[in-house]
Amino acid sequence: GKVLVSGANGYIAVWVVRTLLEHGFSVRGAVRSADKGKHLDKLFAPYGDRFERITVPDITQDGAFDEAVKGVDAIEHTASPFHMKADDPAELLDPAVKGTVGILESARKFGTSVKRVVVTSSTAAVINSSPEPQVLSELNWNDHDVKEVEEKGRAAAPGVKYRASKSLAERAAWDFAKKYQGEIGWDLSVLNPPWVFGPTIHEVSTPDGLNASAHLMYEALTKPGVAAGAGGACWVDVRDLALAHVRALQKEAAGAERIIVSAGPFSWQDWREWFILLNSPFRTRRLFTPRDEAFRALVYFPFPSIETVY
Ligand code: NDP
Repeated sequence: GKVLVSGANGYIAVWVVRTLLEHGFSVRGAVRSADKGKHLDKLFAPYGDRFERITVPDITQDGAFDEAVKGVDAIEHTASPFHMKADDPAELLDPAVKGTVGILESARKFGTSVKRVVVTSSTAAVINSSPEPQVLSELNWNDHDVKEVEEKGRAAAPGVKYRASKSLAERAAWDFAKKYQGEIGWDLSVLNPPWVFGPTIHEVSTPDGLNASAHLMYEALTKPGVAAGAGGACWVDVRDLALAHVRALQKEAAGAERIIVSAGPFSWQDWREWFILLNSPFRTRRLFTPRDEAFRALVYFPFPSIETVY
């Protein structure tokens, strides 16, 4: 079958495209400009006409994906802003929510062959900032950060704005699928990854060009005081997450499911030690990795692959 992947030039999406191609799917990758597709054309040239590209200049426009959804069997919607630089929360909320509802609306109207839509959400739509220890599952929703953005607007912390955008976008997707369930020929499957780490194969030439999660890893490896101490969170290897995007299409049972895709917890110190070992086997006690080595490691070296059970 043929799969539309939105935001195809992104960190996660390039792995999703590659893994789909490796599993025999054809892929239509949607990017904002032809220029952003050049790297993909080169990368996926070995797959011949199983990879094609379409330009969708502005995902917030009505009908932006009307052409893109025609003739595909499934959709993987990954396009959404992930950065901490937004002043006005709408910079994140608009493309996240309108992009998601827009691609679903296009699928409803013109995706006559679409059977499944997979939306890349996040554990940002699950967690809350309660200081109490708690067990979270797919039943939890991050309404807390949505409320905080409503109350504080621009003054809300950058992470709060981002998490609110993911929470609102995912809610909008489920609401849409529910509202039109009698009418649409597809079902919805949502993947909720925590921090995503692992090798970058998208176009990136400087540390500042790294996507948000790889950039945070870079900062943690190179700057004392960033993500310091024994703290951590949960993570998933980008290659495992890409495979989850393929499985979400292959498994009937993934329909109408919200799926946390996590390899479990990490501590920043684990990563520092791992990188130090990787880069300099004989200098294992050095505390921080030099910037160029860290960047090379993020872009060119394999991360340890951790088998994830689906
Ligand atoms: P990237 O920043 O590498 O990719 C984001 C993609 O979305 C790019 O293709 C980008 O296009 C596109 N995009 C961003 N903003 C807009 C916009 N306003 N209009 C149109 N397209 C836009 O991020 P990731 O690969 O890390 O993220 C992909 C998805 O995974 C996102 O939905 C993110 O929320 C989610 N996610 C990521 C995690 C992580 O740790 N990396 C964790 C959990 C979820 P362009 O290059 O043109 O800007």
